[in-house]
Amino acid sequence: MQKLSNQWRGSGLRVGFVPTMGYLHAGHMSLVKCARRLVGPKGRVVVSIYVNPTQFGPKEDLSRYPRDFARDKKLCQEAGVDVIFAPTDREMYPGKKTGAYSTYVVEEQLTRRLEGASRPTHFRGVTTIVAKLFHLVQPDAAVFGAKDFQQATVIRRMSTDLNFPLKIVVAPTVREPDGLAMSSRNKYLEGSLREQAVVLWRALQAAKAAVKKTKRALSAKKLKKDLRKLIEEQPDARVDYIDFFNPDTFEESKIVAAGAHLALAVFMGKTRLIDNARL
Ligand code: AMP
Repeated sequence: MQKLSNQWRGSGLRVGFVPTMGYLHAGHMSLVKCARRLVGPKGRVVVSIYVNPTQFGPKEDLSRYPRDFARDKKLCQEAGVDVIFAPTDREMYPGKKTGAYSTYVVEEQLTRRLEGASRPTHFRGVTTIVAKLFHLVQPDAAVFGAKDFQQATVIRRMSTDLNFPLKIVVAPTVREPDGLAMSSRNKYLEGSLREQAVVLWRALQAAKAAVKKTKRALSAKKLKKDLRKLIEEQPDARVDYIDFFNPDTFEESKIVAAGAHLALAVFMGKTRLIDNARL
């Protein structure tokens, strides 16, 4: 991958990069389109497909994470992706099996709350793998989804802090017709869980409407209580967190006004879903 990228860059071709864990859907493909726009018709677009073990907690769904490489390959070909980079665990973490892998990248500020608090080793895995992928693919631009808003912000910070010479672009969340954010994990939503899952979208809409309706700022505590009630009216929904925060610093907002950001994490049965919106 590094050799190929060096060749491309030596011939003056721009490289656009979309890191994924595969089981691709229209959300991923919108990032591919964005990467193509960024590098132009002559540029090269790389999609990585790698289910990164270090970003999963010990009790999470690493072994059952959905995979379908044949389908992913077809979608990438149809979308004009130039290269799918699908490394193995041995290539990405040489020595890990024998305990001889020991280097990680850690962002220490923006990862403290929300996903970082609920999934303590998650972002260390994300920043490590993305830094490694950036070194391998050497892109001019990399595209991330707003669906994982905190992740995109953390990666932007990491890239600035570690002087990665590339542009980070964040593309909007792609949704199903009923509002559910597309996610590879939606595959887990069997029976009525799929329908119940729309409550995340409904909660975002309810928060937006509440902010619009009141001229004054709202108490985050009160709004959280109302949203929790709305969400947990669904029989299989359990709130992990509802959080209002400043989208630049990720500091908690006690008072909610237009421009604040809302993030949700909700268990639908055993499946943990996240979503977010600017209010
Ligand atoms: P994943 O394969 O879930 O690790 O996601 C790979 C990239 O796709 C990340 O940058 C995600 O934020 C992005 N992504 C996932 N779902 C969506 C979506 N519904 N809309 C836009 N981007 C998404």
